[in-house]
Amino acid sequence: LLKTALYAQEKLYVGTDATEFPPFEYIENGEIKGFDIDLIKEIGKLLDKEIIIKNIQFDGLIPALQTGKLDIVIAGMTVTTEREKNINFSKPYYTSKQLLIMDKKTNLDTLQSLNGHKVGVVLGCTGDIIATEIQDFITIYRYNTTSESIMALNANKIHAVILDSEPAKNFVKNNPNLKYIDNELAREDYAIAVGKENLSLVKDINSALETLKSNGVFENLNKKYFVE
Ligand code: GLN
Repeated sequence: LLKTALYAQEKLYVGTDATEFPPFEYIENGEIKGFDIDLIKEIGKLLDKEIIIKNIQFDGLIPALQTGKLDIVIAGMTVTTEREKNINFSKPYYTSKQLLIMDKKTNLDTLQSLNGHKVGVVLGCTGDIIATEIQDFITIYRYNTTSESIMALNANKIHAVILDSEPAKNFVKNNPNLKYIDNELAREDYAIAVGKENLSLVKDINSALETLKSNGVFENLNKKYFVE
């Protein structure tokens, strides 16, 4: 691996939004855990860097990369052309989709069926892009965190939330009153993000990802977090 990096320091400051996006990141007994956290720690080992995790609200993650407060973001973050204007993404490490999640008694399935309804999204997330496309016929409620959107749903303040598939399945598992509709509103790739100028870091992250895929570590992480 290249060690001629712009990131000459021994520590890598890694931002995520841990409240809460299971199984990618979540807080358990006061500790930030999840697939993304394990993955970035494995990458840290290969790059010989100490990983320091910072919990930051999702819409603050990209600005923190841009101002150099963070070296890396790993937060189930979807690669979008808009984001690529401001930051660099590694090779994708997970394919996800956007789903609808709602109360079991609610019958909404397509985007069209949301007509006249209140729809929750997390501020700055890709669910917000989908909601914004249909803003003429829905009312959008934007929340700071995923858990706040789920709380609003449970309190019947909104009719549905547009959310990433794996967290959606996790929330449904833990809230028996909820269901998800697997209508694949969008297919997305998650990748690790670094600052625009930090090309050597993104290169090193990509080679570390390749190593973890060939030595079985990546597969074991998948087994640990995505058992159906
Ligand atoms: N994948 C979505 C996005 O990138 C949501 C990520 C999240 O809430 N942590 O916008």
